[in-house]
Amino acid sequence: MVELKSDREIEIMREAGKIVAEVHQLMAEKVVAGITTAELDSIAEDHIRSRGAEPAFKGYRVGGNVFPSSICASIDEVVVHGIPSNRELRDGDIISIDVGTFKDGYYGDGAKTFAVGEINETKKKLMDVTLEALNAGIEKAQNGNRLGDISAAIQAVVEENGFSVVRDMVGHGIGRKMHEDPQVYNFGVAGTGPVLKKGLVLAIEPMVNVGDYKISFKPDGWTTVTSDGLPSAHFEHTVAITENGPDILTVV
Ligand code: MG
Repeated sequence: MVELKSDREIEIMREAGKIVAEVHQLMAEKVVAGITTAELDSIAEDHIRSRGAEPAFKGYRVGGNVFPSSICASIDEVVVHGIPSNRELRDGDIISIDVGTFKDGYYGDGAKTFAVGEINETKKKLMDVTLEALNAGIEKAQNGNRLGDISAAIQAVVEENGFSVVRDMVGHGIGRKMHEDPQVYNFGVAGTGPVLKKGLVLAIEPMVNVGDYKISFKPDGWTTVTSDGLPSAHFEHTVAITENGPDILTVV
């Protein structure tokens, strides 16, 4: 069921979203060769709690699997849901950091991919194209448009640039739950799907692979990797649909 949010609810969600963006600002400073993803996780968790919020991913449950950390830290061929560990970042890595917050009854969700030191041209292009695809999707998040308009816009940018969109993971509605309806596919046909209405809040999140779109899962039940081992990038914003266009909530 799709739940539309009131203006008041969107203002509460803006606070949860702002904390997500603050964590990304912090991460931009801290992502350097030699730091471990567990250290990044602890910095993120401290910040979230210092703002009176809770890290939404920590303890998140899918079936019998419980996510142990406050951020997802996904390096290179890891698409999403990488578990922070004692692995040190190395020059040339790219790392997607996905952050979820819970504040005053509502969730915020956002992801950014960062470069560690100097990265190669392919990874640079991958990051640029993924961000451009997210922005193209957000531009279509307009009152009266269709959900498929967002999906098609994302897919077009990615495929025009010779990359592929992950098919088996999607964006989502967000609000009093982290994952609400509708599912937001990163591929699809413009002019199809439900009509977007004022008050709908979506986490739009293209996951883009350099090679094939196929993914596989590691035995830990979370870590999602590209099947061909080539790099993947991920950007995400929580976006409210308003009468005045898309309103990005995960900004400082
Ligand atoms: Mg999400």
